[in-house]
Amino acid sequence: MTPKPVIAAFGSQNGQLTVGGIPVERLAERVGSTPFFAYDRGLLTTRVELLRATLPAGIELSYAMKANPMPAVVQHISGLVDSIDVASALEMQTALDTPLTASHISFAGPGKTDQELSQAVAAGVTIELESASEAARVVSAGDRLGLRPRVAIRVNPDFQVKGSGMRMGGGPQQFGVDVEQVPALLTDLASADVELLGFHVFAGSQNLHADILAEAQRKTVELVLALADKSLSPIRYLNLGGGFGIPYFDKDQPLDLEAIGDNLSALLTDEIRPNLPDARVVMELGRYIVGECGVYITRIVDRKVSRGRNYVVVDGGMHHQLAASGNFGQVIRRNYPLAVANKIDVPVDESVTVVGCLCTPLDLLGDNVDLPRSEVGDLVALFQAGAYGLTASPTAFLGHPAPAEILV
Ligand SMILES: *Cc1c(COP(=O)(O)O)cnc(C)c1O
Repeated sequence: MTPKPVIAAFGSQNGQLTVGGIPVERLAERVGSTPFFAYDRGLLTTRVELLRATLPAGIELSYAMKANPMPAVVQHISGLVDSIDVASALEMQTALDTPLTASHISFAGPGKTDQELSQAVAAGVTIELESASEAARVVSAGDRLGLRPRVAIRVNPDFQVKGSGMRMGGGPQQFGVDVEQVPALLTDLASADVELLGFHVFAGSQNLHADILAEAQRKTVELVLALADKSLSPIRYLNLGGGFGIPYFDKDQPLDLEAIGDNLSALLTDEIRPNLPDARVVMELGRYIVGECGVYITRIVDRKVSRGRNYVVVDGGMHHQLAASGNFGQVIRRNYPLAVANKIDVPVDESVTVVGCLCTPLDLLGDNVDLPRSEVGDLVALFQAGAYGLTASPTAFLGHPAPAEILV
């Protein structure tokens, strides 16, 4: 039996899953307790190398930190990508702690407070404007501080991207300025003391369809070039979004990155460079960079049979890895890949339901999964846990301790 690709990517030694080359039992001893999240440094590096090798050289890579803001992970990634996109003042501080300069940090997201806007202006990061009133507040923050804010307009496009796990553009949105309202905002900004760098379009997340993403990129370029024509200042920054998905479930096919690369290459050569030779062109990715590089390790604390069904109870759960329980934006609950991490080579011989330690039926981690026979004390690994894991989970729910996170 060949292990699933996601499991094979981590590797194994003497029947144990390895992370960063270290067998999980030893890693658990090093951490001192379970459960914990482990992120594989080598896999992160390989992932960005794959992006660099497949996307054209003129495309800059930005890391969308909300996918995984663990400081050590962000530090490591900061050495691989060109820039970081943040969505809160705390994320901004983490990004500023890396060697990247403020000019390569962008701050997106609705509901930025006056204080956050002032912090961003003082830091010198690029503020991605989500509304006309936010733009006005940035201008006053700049006036008050005697600094010239660096801004880009986040545009809510007039098209939708089908097949995204989460849609964040097209139709009415809390994100960005509707494209039809952008010309008026450009006029306002032309007379304000701000440095308008360009445009940002991010229309959706978790998309596995290269053809749909390519079409969205083509429409995005068309839209930003039309807007660039209307801008009074030269456009130096085009953030084309991202939305690259990763396979979570058995039937998911990995994204065809080659096709995306070919499309971006054609867009750069035929559309962008002839019109905007000097603009930085950015793809902004979160989950595609980190999602597959992380694993959540739990230990079995109990087993029982209830009316013919085998239950395996682990010491972790949805309070740390909400997405694996199916409660983070999924419509239909399906199992994330999981394995008995210290019995990687043992053949499958039972079907079990893996549940977490929370006293709620929502805490279901694996429904009728085929696994090797496991015992109390064995380790269960939940994969695809590198993005939207710990920080996207209700850690205070039921009051269990927070898990450790390590970069190996
Ligand atoms: C969340 C977010 C991303 C990252 O999405 P992924 O699916 O993790 O790649 C990128 N840009 C913006 C503006 C976001 O809000």
